[in-house]
Amino acid sequence: MTHTSDTPAVSMDLGDDFPDIREGVRRICADFPGAYWRQLDEEEAYPSAFVKAMTGAGYLSALIPETYGGAGLPLRAAGVILEEIHASGGNASATHAQMYTMGTVLRHGSAAQKSEYLPRIAAGQLRLQAFGVTEPTSGTDTTRLKTRAVREGDHYVVNGQKIWTSRALYSDLMLLLARTTPLEQVTKRTEGLSVFLVDMREAVGNGMTIRPIKAMINHNTTEVFFDNLRIPASALIGEEGRGLRYIMDGMNAERILVSHESLGDAKWFVETAVKYANERVVFDRPIGKNQGIQFPIAKAYAQTQAAELMLRKAAAVFEAGQPCGEFANLSKLLSAEAAWEAGEACMQTHGGFAYAREYDIERKWREARVQRTAPISTNLILSFVAEHVLGLPRSY
Ligand SMILES: Cc1cc2nc3c(=O)[nH]c(=O)nc-3n(C[C@H](O)[C@H](O)[C@H](O)COP(=O)(O)OP(=O)(O)OC[C@H]3O[C@@H](n4cnc5c(N)ncnc54)[C@H](O)[C@@H]3O)c2cc1C
Repeated sequence: MTHTSDTPAVSMDLGDDFPDIREGVRRICADFPGAYWRQLDEEEAYPSAFVKAMTGAGYLSALIPETYGGAGLPLRAAGVILEEIHASGGNASATHAQMYTMGTVLRHGSAAQKSEYLPRIAAGQLRLQAFGVTEPTSGTDTTRLKTRAVREGDHYVVNGQKIWTSRALYSDLMLLLARTTPLEQVTKRTEGLSVFLVDMREAVGNGMTIRPIKAMINHNTTEVFFDNLRIPASALIGEEGRGLRYIMDGMNAERILVSHESLGDAKWFVETAVKYANERVVFDRPIGKNQGIQFPIAKAYAQTQAAELMLRKAAAVFEAGQPCGEFANLSKLLSAEAAWEAGEACMQTHGGFAYAREYDIERKWREARVQRTAPISTNLILSFVAEHVLGLPRSY
């Protein structure tokens, strides 16, 4: 079995780590209660005030090194920030991309790119929230994406289309993956893709068009069209043709960060269900006295605890610089499933009231569901585990 479980001993903190960060984030979230998120959801509006508060407190620059004006915190701390937002009933989708796209810029961006952008991102003057990978025709099969960037002198000319590019209307910069060498001209299909840091302020209206998608959740997601968009060659990150590798490098960090969001959701569902099960009296007793109500909540709690352990393991192995693909993927799978089961238990515990918007449960339930599909779907994780961990034959 070619598994990665044999990682050298890595110590793992089991305590309530980063208590100051947890408390600080909770304090900000208290100013943005369920009613705030409900209204945004109804109006399909962007949480500008929340993003401003989080930026002002420095949380969104958690992963930017101190030399560039950021907090220079480890990945686990960034995850804790996202987890606390979700555990307090909010949603981090408006803010999380700045964290999970950051690795590509930090590891592969040039000194000039970093000093041009990072201090202004850290100061909240620039937003790096758009990540353009998915396309309508190729879907999960990223190597077949069709958006082309063709070098012309000191520019690249971009043509094509992205879909589900979240926050594009609320971002100044986009991390864009495009093909620079046609698929038929590369020896390996993972080659010939390049990643660009596109300044959207210059692009929109000059070859870039953004169209919002009406979706099940308020995710401010869009379609982005490129029609002879000219971007300076200096927007290229790292070497031409190696972009997929750069993006993949950041995938484990992304999996760990979004796992924290699911974990936060799971905790919120369990806490909300327990509270209601204790309070709601039917047949002259709290419904929580019935084992039919108790057991699904207890089971969801067990799943949440197990998911948290795997997440801590993934983060510890990541921080130790050891291969963590197995654990990051397992963590993403287990935390998304824990949130889903906890959501179901919370819905069932609340009976008809689960459907009343003012309880926030149906909103959180819709929001938690997305983690089973994006940024990577459950099937693709299982396929990674089956083929790369367990050594089963490759299916694609
Ligand atoms: C709310 C939301 C926000 C998003 N934000 C972004 C963003 O900001 N940037 C971005 O680039 N993308 C974004 N995405 C896109 C997201 O990453 C993709 O939707 C996801 O990766 C799945 O791709 P797809 O929708 O094309 O599904 P497809 O690739 O068409 O797959 C459809 C189904 O088939 C399954 N499937 C496909 N191939 C296999 C296989 N070989 N074995 C087993 N099952 C398979 C998949 O698991 C999936 O369940 C977002 C999506 C959503 C819903």
